[in-house]
Amino acid sequence: MTRKITLSEKEIPENWYNIAADMPNKPLPPLHPGTKEPIGPEALAPLFPMELIKQEVSAEKWIEIPDEVRDIYSIWRPTPLYRARGLEKVLDSPAKIFYKYEGSSPSGSHKPNTAVAQAFYNKEEGVKRITTETGAGQWGSALSFACNLFNIECEVYMVKLSFHHKPYRKVMMNTWGASVIPSPSDQTEAGRKILAADPDSPGSLGIAISEAIERAAMDEHTKYSLGSVLNHVLLHQTIVGQEAVLQMEKAGELPDVVIAPFGGGSNFAGLSFPFLRYNLEEGKQIRCVASEPASCPKLTRGVFRYDFGDTVGMTPLLPMYTLGHNFIPAPIHAGGLRYHGAGVMVSQLLKDQLIEAQAHDQLEAFAAGVTFAKAEGIIPAPEANHAIASVFAEVERCKAEGSRETILFNLCGHGNFDMKAYEDYFAGKLVRHELSDSEISNSLAELQTPEIA
Ligand SMILES: *Cc1c(COP(=O)(O)O)cnc(C)c1O
Repeated sequence: MTRKITLSEKEIPENWYNIAADMPNKPLPPLHPGTKEPIGPEALAPLFPMELIKQEVSAEKWIEIPDEVRDIYSIWRPTPLYRARGLEKVLDSPAKIFYKYEGSSPSGSHKPNTAVAQAFYNKEEGVKRITTETGAGQWGSALSFACNLFNIECEVYMVKLSFHHKPYRKVMMNTWGASVIPSPSDQTEAGRKILAADPDSPGSLGIAISEAIERAAMDEHTKYSLGSVLNHVLLHQTIVGQEAVLQMEKAGELPDVVIAPFGGGSNFAGLSFPFLRYNLEEGKQIRCVASEPASCPKLTRGVFRYDFGDTVGMTPLLPMYTLGHNFIPAPIHAGGLRYHGAGVMVSQLLKDQLIEAQAHDQLEAFAAGVTFAKAEGIIPAPEANHAIASVFAEVERCKAEGSRETILFNLCGHGNFDMKAYEDYFAGKLVRHELSDSEISNSLAELQTPEIA
């Protein structure tokens, strides 16, 4: 009755997996926001170190993980993979359920997998300060932790709503030496513009990104770092799936369905891409399902076209599923999922129907999360609750079809800093929130960017 499938430190994978090498349709290039022409890697040089830019456009299938990065990974990696026997029992599930647990990292989620790698490459190139944005505080914490290890200053623009909902995330970042500014702030042009239009703006990831980029663009020793969406970020997260492949082999199982919550795509890509490799290389048919909130449904109800990564329109135009860069998601508690767009690689894979997406309401997600916590002990991050809701839906399908499948999902973080969200859920303060078609079409109507044929 094994529950926990572990790996030794020696089994930490030595390479990240770059799915671009195996994609039938390669990711489309980013476009310059002014000329609308494809931009070269050099256009990103003011914001990112060269090594990360190379990874962003790399066609190499395997990219070696530097020893220094693997050494830091070994603080918490390999992470455990569990058979959810308690949950199977509660659900009377005909399907076997497994989950990869990324909440055992120092900051409590999958985010340090890329934060450590990014801080390492910045340090190699002499960078003194990194700016970034954070929604729920997960990314800011991870980057603060990583920057501190490499003696780099860290400046975090935190979405104002989360800044007030999650004061302890801020203290956590401060403990690792970072400074944290609620966004929109009056410290940047972008922030002042938003505040002028709406002094009570709860902020959004898109706005915070604009602020952090502006700061980095102003100073040559300062670079910017993103915790999701970009190809190199998704690449670093494949350590998760690489380990999970080994662990599922040990368990003697190959999953039929791989599920992960979806914000910008990094933890989804991290777990699913190494399994998707078997589909692309060997024609296996593992279903990979991204779970997004019904209140921010870019994959299930957005459009595939060029759009900005931020709200103000400072980033290159990226070909992605989007609700429009002016879309401000409702203040639901899964802060990490409140982003208008999706990673370029994940978007292309969805367009090509090589992956799937589902949307779940937050009430449904919290109900699933609470059932999980009672059955398995770990209290999931609200983001992860959306994946658990998808697991429940798949179990129901298996029951209806009388099939016995194996499900694997990403428990990408714990919810120990999210007690406010759970408190609101128990007090009945969370509301069902579904967007109307007109809200979505209004937001998309504002897009002036090129359509993709
Ligand atoms: C950041 C975060 C997410 C969403 O971001 P992705 O890039 O889609 O993974 C989901 N869950 C947790 C716990 C997070 O910290």
